[in-house]
Amino acid sequence: MNHAETRFIFITGGVVSSLGKGIAAASIGRLLRARGFSVQIQKFDPYINVDPGTMSPYQHGEVFVTEDGAETDLDLGHYERFTDANASRASNVTAGGIYNTVIRRERRGDYLGATVQVVPHITDEIKHRIRVIAESADVDFVITEIGGTVGDIESLPFLEAIRQFPVEVGRRRCMFIHLTLVPYIGHAGELKTKPTQHSVNELRRIGINADMVMCRSESELSHDIRKKIALFASLPVDAVVSAYDVSDVYSVPLAFNQQGVDDFILREHFGLSAPEPDLAGWKAIIDRAASLTDQIRIALVGKYVKLEDAYLSVVEALRHSGVHHGCRVQVEWVDSETVGEPEVDSLLRGVDGILIPGGFGGRGFEGKIAAARIAREAGIPYLGVCLGMHVAVSEFARHVADMPGANSTEMDPETPYPVIDLLPEQREIADMGGTMRLGADPVKVIEGTRAFDAYGESVVYERHRHRYEVNNHLRGQLEAAGMVFSGTTPDGRLVEISELPRELHPFYVASQFHPEFKSRPDRPAPLFREFVGAAYARRHGAAHAAGTQAHAEEDLTATRLSLP
Ligand code: GLN
Repeated sequence: MNHAETRFIFITGGVVSSLGKGIAAASIGRLLRARGFSVQIQKFDPYINVDPGTMSPYQHGEVFVTEDGAETDLDLGHYERFTDANASRASNVTAGGIYNTVIRRERRGDYLGATVQVVPHITDEIKHRIRVIAESADVDFVITEIGGTVGDIESLPFLEAIRQFPVEVGRRRCMFIHLTLVPYIGHAGELKTKPTQHSVNELRRIGINADMVMCRSESELSHDIRKKIALFASLPVDAVVSAYDVSDVYSVPLAFNQQGVDDFILREHFGLSAPEPDLAGWKAIIDRAASLTDQIRIALVGKYVKLEDAYLSVVEALRHSGVHHGCRVQVEWVDSETVGEPEVDSLLRGVDGILIPGGFGGRGFEGKIAAARIAREAGIPYLGVCLGMHVAVSEFARHVADMPGANSTEMDPETPYPVIDLLPEQREIADMGGTMRLGADPVKVIEGTRAFDAYGESVVYERHRHRYEVNNHLRGQLEAAGMVFSGTTPDGRLVEISELPRELHPFYVASQFHPEFKSRPDRPAPLFREFVGAAYARRHGAAHAAGTQAHAEEDLTATRLSLP
């Protein structure tokens, strides 16, 4: 479809935050894809940070990294996993980013003496960002999710911009979907529609008439309740959707489809005809996930374990891998500052795999080193991601390669063995925002290694977000002591993957990049897939490793597992 034909769906939220607008947007995206349309989803965040890269994971959850190296909201991870279409820098826009652009333009004198105002300058820039994504991706649908809740001061410029948007492209090319909450008041035994009513009205006051209202609720809303909401929202009852709680977020598109959401959007609203959706593959994965009986336990050792969203893509990648192998993955959240306490150490010794995800700063780093040591010495499958690789290399240097006090200079600038050091190009950089090595880069994978078993290809593209890196001056010493650098940049200059040889450990692999960002429900990230396969094999014996794409030496697994 030519971008002059692109349709625009705007998703707003009302009543309370955290209703799952991201999942709703992603699910609609999935349905439209299943009916043969191309889709890009975009999120507007009303805060002043230029991007979430500088925010604490406790504030914001995980920072999701796109192929083109943008540090973005975690909802973009949902978009990619649901629609299987890569997001880009244009997919996440913050108020800070918009103001930054407008103010820089003003400083350059581009406004030729005009008074620069929220309307029209800020709102024009917001509208421009919607058009940019339609034009650059040339898609059939752009779905734009507006962060925050209707009624917030911060979201007003965004809402004003999307109110104006149909005036420019035509109302028939736009649709407004409003997500609200229908709470159940226990003592009254009643579902309450009033907050939805107020929220739809609040939106109207701004000048936006919702074309569809999605109501979050614990259980499915009755026809009568939907009719009541439809009446005050001036909508047909089919435009009121019950977005009830489900145990598996991936089943939301199916629940929407059952209520005719895609039909309503395409046929009723946009007057488009489309083939029936092909959701068979999607449903098969959900059914498989629901039927799993075997379970493995993976310890996730990190600093932000009190907020599971801080490691969202990691957990999703583990889940995808579990479904692939036929086992449920139970994550044991281990605060790295508690490693060393006897009960924590015995938990770590009892799990089927230990994963150390990305992270920043020294707090809890020694606990991570101790956890990696347990994994290495006890033959427990280990996967390190980014900082998790720095941990694996530092631990190995200290306890195997005879480099006492080895460390990353991020943690100890005075270490006698700086096995991990700043990337040379990072030395001159003072700004914190958006200045790391970011985004997808090629990785050369060395044949005959675990990494090659996982990828089965000699060049792969993976996403990065880091400043520190294995120090080339000490690389030879680490290799001499037995560490294998099984992935590098194509020129060999930077280490991308480190591992222990199969004779020494059943699975001990770490990557400088973040494989989790590219994991999909039907295509788990290869390193995660092999890690979970190894953990499952440890739990149940080598037979269950079947089904993995690990084509190399399956029989050896048994021998490996019998190593002390
Ligand atoms: N703090 C480390 C670095 O900057 C690791 C970053 C990460 O884990 N994403 O290199």
